Amino acid sequence: MRDFGGTTERVPARVVRPGSADEVAAALRDAAARGRDAVPRGTGHSTSGRSLTGGVSLDMRGLGGVHEVGPGHAVAGAGATWREVLAATLPHGLAPPVLTDYLDLTVGGTLSAGGVGGTSHVHGTQADNVLALEVVTGGGPVTCSPTVRPGLFDAVRGGQGAHGVVTRATLRLVPVPERVLSCTVPCRDAADLLRVQREVRADHISGQAKPAEDGWRFEAKAVRYAGGPPPGATEAEELSFLGFADRMGPDVAELVALGEWERPHPWAMVLLPGSGAAAVITAALASTTPADLGLSGVVLIKALRVGRVPMLAAPTDPVLFGLLRTASPGCTPVAGMLAANQAFLDRAEAAGGTPYPAAPSA
Ligand SMILES: Cc1cc2nc3c(=O)[nH]c(=O)nc-3n(C[C@H](O)[C@H](O)[C@H](O)COP(=O)(O)OP(=O)(O)OC[C@H]3O[C@@H](n4cnc5c(N)ncnc54)[C@H](O)[C@@H]3O)c2cc1C
Repeated sequence: MRDFGGTTERVPARVVRPGSADEVAAALRDAAARGRDAVPRGTGHSTSGRSLTGGVSLDMRGLGGVHEVGPGHAVAGAGATWREVLAATLPHGLAPPVLTDYLDLTVGGTLSAGGVGGTSHVHGTQADNVLALEVVTGGGPVTCSPTVRPGLFDAVRGGQGAHGVVTRATLRLVPVPERVLSCTVPCRDAADLLRVQREVRADHISGQAKPAEDGWRFEAKAVRYAGGPPPGATEAEELSFLGFADRMGPDVAELVALGEWERPHPWAMVLLPGSGAAAVITAALASTTPADLGLSGVVLIKALRVGRVPMLAAPTDPVLFGLLRTASPGCTPVAGMLAANQAFLDRAEAAGGTPYPAAPSA
């Protein structure tokens, strides 16, 4: 079995597809009795083998479904994808306040990572917007929330499955806008990009560095739910909320057709302290060539806010910086990309950064 990262393979002793929280509890008890690890797996879009095990692989997709949609909340199975959550909430004019850029990730999988989206500068992470969780640890399923078993609630959000299996989540919902205006704002450098992300009024904002003839060019995508484009915008496109939320769809179809989606993805992502972020990003990009990123690699830069998710150990005024590499033919081989990642992660950590998602042992 492999994951989206594609650099690690593990053969599980057993794959269990629980259909209920009680079946998760039984699978955990059985695995413990046999001295085996049990590792939950959503859609396996993580990297570095985080959803893989030589023990019992718990395929959480059997616990999908959206069970309830209320005025400000939805109750979803941990194995539901954000696409499935949206399909259930949009008819009510509601959506989770934070969506990942890609919708085919599970609720349990991204809550275990943290879940950063373009609205995270306003709303924090997806883990900040969970009202309650149903979790299975050693015994039967229990509920936790900021007021009920808060220690378990804090250990599981961002906890990479190490402190319990999430089986159900009560998610906060907010009204969706009628349309979004997605605008491109070119930026001079990493510092300018971070300034734009902090200063421009936007409901959703993200940033990328892209290879250019003379190095890297930087651009912010500022999205407004009302009003015109922000100052400095060179392009603006009006979209429906769903069209915007699912904007990766056409790119993914193209990457699948090109074979790039199946290739290894040695990704490195960190949360950097805002004060030193531009310097770390500039230094990292100075030693990164387009071949080190791969043909469909992406450099993500996103200033955000993390509320109270202790497992993320987020630095002050955090900036998500991701070198999302693809080991394309003719580019730097996987081993070179992994070595570059390790050197980068060491430098980022020395500058006060923390890996995102957090290391599973955290
Ligand atoms: C194309 C793409 C786009 C992405 N975009 C974003 C983004 O915009 N923002 C962002 O924050 N991240 C993003 N990610 C990263 C993604 O959020 C994480 O890798 C996430 O963990 C993947 O969810 P999954 O369902 O595939 O989880 P998996 O890869 O299956 O599992 C990830 C981890 O969570 C654990 N886990 C899974 N389910 C449960 C559960 N029910 N209970 C407890 N632990 C569980 C696993 O054991 C593992 O440690 C992206 C990844 C890809 C490939």
